[in-house]
Amino acid sequence: MRCAIAPCAALVFAMSVPAFAQDSPRFVEARERMVKEDIAKDGFFGRRGVTDTAVLNAMRTVPRHEFVSESQQNQAYADTPLPIGHGQTISQPYIVALMTELLDVDADDVVLEIGTGSGYQAAVLAEIVEKVFTIEIVEPLAMSAKKRLAELEYDNVETKSGDGYFGWKEHAPYDGIVVTAAASHIPPPLVEQLKPGARMVIPVGPPFGNQQLFLLEKNPDGTVTQRSVLAVRFVPLTRGEAVKDESSE
Ligand code: SAH
Repeated sequence: MRCAIAPCAALVFAMSVPAFAQDSPRFVEARERMVKEDIAKDGFFGRRGVTDTAVLNAMRTVPRHEFVSESQQNQAYADTPLPIGHGQTISQPYIVALMTELLDVDADDVVLEIGTGSGYQAAVLAEIVEKVFTIEIVEPLAMSAKKRLAELEYDNVETKSGDGYFGWKEHAPYDGIVVTAAASHIPPPLVEQLKPGARMVIPVGPPFGNQQLFLLEKNPDGTVTQRSVLAVRFVPLTRGEAVKDESSE
């Protein structure tokens, strides 16, 4: 009797596991290589390796191939940005890991992300902190990221469509804010929504020009200390209403 039931149970289980939940050994190995070679190791031009264990574990866990189109999946674990439609990109894994490490967040923290894109950076944060709020200005991207994050069971991420320049006041103040699009200046509403002692990581500079990744810390008296960490290249932080354009290029 037991022998007859076991294969049936296994079959039911296999049928109920959705395709997106399957993580093949080749992807697991590719992530391991990515963490070792591209993220944890010191790189060219004085680039320093990421050492925070929680960040490295998150990078080992999140299936980046689920955040890109099927045709890009073979490149999902190369250290490069990839197109995600609507002229936007998923950031390079090293930069995602570095920005997460710079935030210096803990398990009971609440974090705000501006620029959801594919939802990958939000998922990496969701592996580490208690709650992630994320805003995306291109509505179709916000919708697909929301669906993807739900399918991957990132229940601690809340996504909305809108202009992230103004932050998400309702849930403020935050233990950390990460902006994944390049701003011309540091948005004052985001500084306001940061807790004293909390950090913000944000690329600042002209669209497609010389941008610097800034690390800001809000002091107990409300003033801000900031330093530039390295030269980066991000898509621009655009302004205005959420973009409802359905085109994918
Ligand atoms: N974090 C993303 C990659 C970000 S690409 C990921 O992990 O995939 C930057 C994103 O910021 C783009 O999707 C772009 O549409 C979005 N964006 C640009 N300006 C914005 C704004 N003002 N508010 C919210 N999102 C914005």
